[in-house]
Amino acid sequence: MTIKNISILSFKDQSVQKNMDVTIREGRISKISEGGVVSAPVSGNLNEIIIDGTGKYIIPGLINAHAHTAMTLLRGVAEDVSVDDWFNKHVWIYEQSLTPDDVYTGTLLGAAEMLLSGVTAVADHYFAMDRAFEAYEKSGMRANLAWAVFGTGSEADKQFGTAMNFTKMYRSKSSRISISLGPHSPYICPEEFLVKVAGVSGELNIPMHIHVSETEDQVVQSLKKTGLTPVQVLDKTGILKEGTILAHAYWATDKDLELIKKRRAGIAHCAKTYMKFGDVNDLLPRAVKAGVKIAFGSDGLASNNTVNIFETARDAALLAKCSTSSPETGKINEILPVLNGGNVIGLKNYGEIKEGVLADLVIIDPSTPNMMPGYNIFADILYSLNNRNVDTVIVDGKVVVENGKLLTIDVAELREKALETSKRMVATVSDRPLQSY
Ligand SMILES: [Zn+2]
Repeated sequence: MTIKNISILSFKDQSVQKNMDVTIREGRISKISEGGVVSAPVSGNLNEIIIDGTGKYIIPGLINAHAHTAMTLLRGVAEDVSVDDWFNKHVWIYEQSLTPDDVYTGTLLGAAEMLLSGVTAVADHYFAMDRAFEAYEKSGMRANLAWAVFGTGSEADKQFGTAMNFTKMYRSKSSRISISLGPHSPYICPEEFLVKVAGVSGELNIPMHIHVSETEDQVVQSLKKTGLTPVQVLDKTGILKEGTILAHAYWATDKDLELIKKRRAGIAHCAKTYMKFGDVNDLLPRAVKAGVKIAFGSDGLASNNTVNIFETARDAALLAKCSTSSPETGKINEILPVLNGGNVIGLKNYGEIKEGVLADLVIIDPSTPNMMPGYNIFADILYSLNNRNVDTVIVDGKVVVENGKLLTIDVAELREKALETSKRMVATVSDRPLQSY
């Protein structure tokens, strides 16, 4: 496949290379050359797919480094409430009635939404991940899956056994879908459980994905209980290490950030979730300054309402400015590289448009009124772009979105299924939460 006469954007140095041809072979960019005539295939093979990139831009696909994708089915169930009520009175009540089939439907719905908004890889932390695996396989998306475990209560051992069976069975099943271990958080999981998970991670060489320091109160409670910040608890128990995805670390102290950097873990920053809870902090500018690996995450749809990472980046820029009362933070050149934070979820050879990298790519069409007149394409992408500008999405060298249409999933059929599921969930909702926050 060759994309012809396209402008290559680099978020790292804010450069534009105009009129280039990008050739893709076996899931990678095999060649980049000066643009030529659109009708002639670069390889001489008349059957080769040619995409005309004239007037368009190409960027690496976006990363969603922390999602609970199947929660698309809970979009809108918990609005305008505190964190405590969000968990105990809404989300953990609804999640009681989610079935493995629902996880498949909800994940497929989230994958559809992500691909249509230019997200090519996700780190998903949820339950029934064998069914999520099926959904990601069908969607054509790249994914890292962690089966969430609480490590507490009467079902703890059984739950951990199920997650481990999944991990062992699925870890080598797909080159596109990798597996992590998913202990929920230091505020739910007992320390001895975290030590056990870290041990398994080291033994089997499987990374981990965990929530930490989502709120200021979690840090206060942890200090009161253990004398340590939640990040320090993760360090003490062996969880904080290279490859670990830290969902949030939003209330990490500057010392925590130094520790995270030293251990080479990465942060998934979910700006819209924090803003919806009215929680303002300057984590992003501090983490960028400290040189910590960082990517954006959507978190679950019951708090974020979308899995759109362009939107999260915009929210993150605004949050950075508001939290520091300064327009000179959350700058475009700090925010846009975070869109391609694949190193947080373990992607190698990704994040730039150059020969040899993974062909996970997004073609942006800026010809809609919201992107005109186009003085600064980088500002337009951060502050003006919407899904209509996501023209083509390629994952692993295959086109999954073409002219804004999803090729791998029947969206009309999916809508029927999602409506059916939501009706059943409303009818069967229990009064017992899955866990207590
Ligand atoms: Zn989360």
